[in-house]
Amino acid sequence: MSISSPFPDHIAALGPYVPGQSIATVARRVGLPLEDIAKLASNENPLGASPRVAEALQRAALDLSRYPDNDCPDLMAALADALGVPMDWLVVGAGSESLLAAIATACLAPGRSAVYSQYSFQAFPNAVQRVGATSHVVASPDLVVDPAALLAAVTEDTALVYLANPGNPTGTYVGAHEVLAMLERLPAHITVLLDEAYCEFLAPADAPDAVAWVRRFPNLVVARTFSKAYGLAGLRVGYAFAQPGLASVLRRIRAPFAVTDLAQVAAVAALQDPEHLARSVAANAAGLAHLGQGLDALGLRHLPSHTNFVLVDVGDGGAVARTLETHGLIVRPVGGYGLPSWVRISVGTRAENARLLAALAAALPARRTGVA
Ligand SMILES: *Cc1c(COP(=O)(O)O)cnc(C)c1O
Repeated sequence: MSISSPFPDHIAALGPYVPGQSIATVARRVGLPLEDIAKLASNENPLGASPRVAEALQRAALDLSRYPDNDCPDLMAALADALGVPMDWLVVGAGSESLLAAIATACLAPGRSAVYSQYSFQAFPNAVQRVGATSHVVASPDLVVDPAALLAAVTEDTALVYLANPGNPTGTYVGAHEVLAMLERLPAHITVLLDEAYCEFLAPADAPDAVAWVRRFPNLVVARTFSKAYGLAGLRVGYAFAQPGLASVLRRIRAPFAVTDLAQVAAVAALQDPEHLARSVAANAAGLAHLGQGLDALGLRHLPSHTNFVLVDVGDGGAVARTLETHGLIVRPVGGYGLPSWVRISVGTRAENARLLAALAAALPARRTGVA
């Protein structure tokens, strides 16, 4: 077959990844100093990383002329220890996004399909499209993933199911028994990527025992990240665990030297400070409650969040986000997810949350004057 275009159709059709806007970009646009901007758009930890991370990076004799250790031995050992799993279950990546992509490379190809819920993390459709596979997107009218509906959407060519729990941008959570029921019924040749980017924020009673699930299901891989609760989004480091067969495929697909020395050292230090993680999770719970009360007082519908952000129906997400920007507040409009009336607001510091609520009240004049 001869070709006539530089890129295959599925690559030419790729859309850009739309991230939250940076502090510097918004500061420039609205003419405010950097320190007056609060970024509540990318679900970062407002407390930052553990102070031990900075200490460890200073102590580590990092020689930037050297390649990082491709095997990430210290981080793999620390993760194996923290999770109680063997090292050969683990794969470390440059952010868990890279592992969501690696699983698509592993399982998909043209002629194969992936199943995931409507309003899923944008990395899912993107990963599927990059490898030229097809997506079956399962309707989610209540903005909560329905594992039984994912199961029902599986077709003969399905090789992969993506499920983020809790989800982003929804923040909603589906109970462990429902996910387990799906895992029990799925054919063994279909891989499940369970994305647990926000698992640290779950109440202990809600958190599934993902390690026990992986022990039971050789077709399950669980992805997690240091970007959210651990406060290391800038370093790009995440991990996944699965039984050795699946984990080893992912280690081979992952780009060589993907995880820098700095990221490896920082992640190990972050794991060694469970108190900082607990403080972050507690501060987040207080922040969610604060935001929830404020949003209720404004009469704004918001989804029950099991994460460090909340999805809020503001009528016109794009317009409200632009208005908030003029107050120095960056939130995330989610029109690109098919949710044009909503914005996603990350939990900030107590002061940032208060500022956000005040600015939101001012940005919603029509509602406040009671237009029915
Ligand atoms: C933030 C996020 C990730 C991963 O982020 P990385 O920074 O690439 O580790 C993965 N899944 C979901 C649902 C997320 O919200």
